Amino acid sequence: KNSLKNTINKLKSETLASVNWAGNDYEWSGEVKKILNSFFKLKHFRPKQLSAINSTLSSQHAIVVMPTGAGKSLCYQLPALVKPGLTVVVSPLISLMEDQVRSLSNKNIPAKLITSSSTKEETSSALNILKDKSSNIKLLYVTPERFAKSKRFMSNLQKCFTDGRLQRIAIDEVHCCSQWGHDFRPDYKYLGILANMFPGIPILGLTATATSHVLNDVQKILNIQGCLLIKSTFNRPNLFYKILEKPTSQEECIAIIEKLLKFRYKGESGIIYTNSIKDSEEISVALRKRGLKVGCYHANLDADTRSKVHIKWHEKQYQAIVATIAFGMGIDKPDVRFVIHHTISKSMENYYQESGRAGRDGLRAECVTLYRMQDIFKLSTMVFSSAGSLDHLYGMVKYCLNGTLCRRQLIAEHFDEDWGDSDCNKMCDVCCTPGGRTKEISLENHCETISQIIDNAEKQDIKLTAQKLLDSWFLKGPVNLRHKGKEPQFLRVIGEDVIAYLLTEGYLVEDFHYTAYSTISYLKKGPNMDLINDSDFKLNMSIRKYSKFELDTLAPSANGWENSNGATSENKAKKRKSSNTDELKSKSSKI
Ligand code: ADP
Ligand code: MG
Ligand code: ZN
Repeated sequence: KNSLKNTINKLKSETLASVNWAGNDYEWSGEVKKILNSFFKLKHFRPKQLSAINSTLSSQHAIVVMPTGAGKSLCYQLPALVKPGLTVVVSPLISLMEDQVRSLSNKNIPAKLITSSSTKEETSSALNILKDKSSNIKLLYVTPERFAKSKRFMSNLQKCFTDGRLQRIAIDEVHCCSQWGHDFRPDYKYLGILANMFPGIPILGLTATATSHVLNDVQKILNIQGCLLIKSTFNRPNLFYKILEKPTSQEECIAIIEKLLKFRYKGESGIIYTNSIKDSEEISVALRKRGLKVGCYHANLDADTRSKVHIKWHEKQYQAIVATIAFGMGIDKPDVRFVIHHTISKSMENYYQESGRAGRDGLRAECVTLYRMQDIFKLSTMVFSSAGSLDHLYGMVKYCLNGTLCRRQLIAEHFDEDWGDSDCNKMCDVCCTPGGRTKEISLENHCETISQIIDNAEKQDIKLTAQKLLDSWFLKGPVNLRHKGKEPQFLRVIGEDVIAYLLTEGYLVEDFHYTAYSTISYLKKGPNMDLINDSDFKLNMSIRKYSKFELDTLAPSANGWENSNGATSENKAKKRKSSNTDELKSKSSKI
């Protein structure tokens, strides 16, 4: 019965999607164009904005999926002005609501908000807007708690509806409904009553989260299954994606970042994302000692300091901000030329958002990630307790381990899109690697070895961290844990990649243990490790190319990493190619 329902919903939404919503022959089309020019001072719609506007003005429930910065707000702000009545906007963050109300007021569009920090009088007058037929307010912003916790709000909203003044309900950041998203807010589930409570009133959800899992969940929670989905592409053709091998010492990491800032990104603005407050402080101090102008930004700094750092960066007094992910909301600097991840993000979703702050002006910008196995466990021990978080993290790890597919292909998969090679245009490290990636190794024997090492440790009642497991495999560390056979014929970094790969494929699993001060991740055999007993068991892995940090990739040009030196680039590329293949050969001769 459930699957029939799903099929019907799918058909419904496909039928709706087949309508051309971007037309200009609706009764309101002239008005829409006029409002775009006069109130918003904009000339054209961006892709899918007009579709969203026409569908919601046609009273369809719809979910709009667009990358951050693509212009989702206009999709409900503009329709609010087309007909008489009120648009209620649900938004999760007070700062976002304040920004929007301010910018609407600057455009002479009457808007108000109700927040928990409003005074009694302010709240009262905002609540009266719902009842007051002569109110000129067009948009009323509220947090989702209102629907759960304020009876007065709900009864006024009911009145607004029966008076025929409720035009639509816009739900911003609508992925917050779903616990499969990255930003679950329990209060969003109360919004599920709206569709039945206000029949005929269109709901317009907006989000930058595009996974079908989350989108289906959101529709279910809001009771608008089979609604129209309006989705614009997530490809950012002007962003160049690159993974760099991360050195083990902080000192060497800092040296890489220093060189990038002094040479490749000289005179340009960027962001360096770190995983902890401690890292962001350490790295910014070290970079300043080396003569660079950088700011530091994290949640433990007071609001005043944070806004000063932000402003100095905007005014180019700082070349870069070294930040935790607390630096995110409200970054509207169009000419961010680089985003460096000192530590991987905790999911592809986060990575896309963070790296996506580069190149908003449409010009070339670079997203460089320092990856090392050890960081998986730094993050996993932080996030493991929330649902789905390990899978999200492993998705990010797969992106880093990949050496054969276009980076964009993995991003596209994440967003349930399908981009061809031409959508990359050699704008990722894999696509512009001469000769591409070819080396495959078979893991059957290695799985066997790793499985034996774990069994042997378990017999002695010893738990193995990834490092200890690697030690035992490479015949290092305590003798009682060491593998009895031969040491693998490849470098330890490749061993690290194998371990990470086995983790993402379910051959290994993490086992978390708490101490008084920290959480430790140990490795155990995963459910797929049983497969090694099958006689036809096969498991291959392609080894990625190691982008060892090289000075000659540092030219401050706006070209690719592999072509950074103009006329000599071909030679350089050849040289590098041969040195890479040499490196690979020397590795493979050992394999
Ligand atoms: P989102 O919510 O999708 O992250 P916003 O609605 O905050 O994005 O819009 C991001 C920026 O894009 C804003 O500065 C907005 O004024 C601008 N913008 C939106 N639509 C257009 C358009 N059609 N033409 C030019 N700029 C636009
Ligand atoms: Mg937005
Ligand atoms: Zn590519």
